[in-house]
Amino acid sequence: MVRFWLVALVMLAATGPVRAGDRLNVVASFSILGDFVRHVGGDRVDVTTLVGPSSDAHVYVPTPSDAKKVADAKLIFVNGLGFEGWLSRLVKSAGGKASVVITTTGIAPLKLGSEADPHAWQSVVNAKIYVANIRDALAAAAPADAEAFKSRANAYLADLDALEREVREAIAKIPESRRKVISTHNAFGYFAAAYGVEFIAPLGVSTESEASARDIAKIITQIRAAKIPAVFLENISDPRLIGRIAAETGVKVGGTLYSDSLTAEKGDSPTYIAMVRHNIKALTSALSP
Ligand SMILES: [Zn+2]
Repeated sequence: MVRFWLVALVMLAATGPVRAGDRLNVVASFSILGDFVRHVGGDRVDVTTLVGPSSDAHVYVPTPSDAKKVADAKLIFVNGLGFEGWLSRLVKSAGGKASVVITTTGIAPLKLGSEADPHAWQSVVNAKIYVANIRDALAAAAPADAEAFKSRANAYLADLDALEREVREAIAKIPESRRKVISTHNAFGYFAAAYGVEFIAPLGVSTESEASARDIAKIITQIRAAKIPAVFLENISDPRLIGRIAAETGVKVGGTLYSDSLTAEKGDSPTYIAMVRHNIKALTSALSP
């Protein structure tokens, strides 16, 4: 009996709740990455996100409290591919000993001219590579928890496989001639390449520059020539540009696509999986005849 209790106690110690002080302190640069890290890290990791919900990471300006978060962290998870242009300066000025983990490592980047397209998460197959990179970095930083990270990652990867099937089935129901939309900035290149929906955007792969009158005129010509069924707003971008294009062409606004950011907890896309589901629902309902 004594022996039984000893074994039970040892098991409790191994699997019981993790105390706050034992948790690995990490930072994720933006909300989608923060969600991936939470799924893999579970209660063994404390995740802080720098660019919050419905905010634009392309043009983010770090705050003094971000410097403190970075200084206190063991790991900093970033997208890379030029997405967080402000990050290396922040890491340098914050000091600290955090390692920067580029979660897109192993993904073949799409190019738009000479620029890499950073929005690799918009393909669910790529999201799985992010998750594997996060799992490996967490395991290297906290080897005692490696098995826990592995099993949580496996469960989440299975959910992403199911999500990938969901996206393919949803897009397959849209007639091929109607699979084209206008979005504000070029955030859906990986989605387009993976699932065969054509996206045209007045802005480039970043939101840093504004669309010129010429860009807008070109888009309006394209909408008419290609008979594009719908234009979409984005949760991180000014809606006026798309509003103007919709008014001039008479094309309907199909709703909002979530490109670079999740919504807050109470919004309709507080997780990556919810975000992808939201987007395919918006696309299928706007593009179906
Ligand atoms: Zn973007």
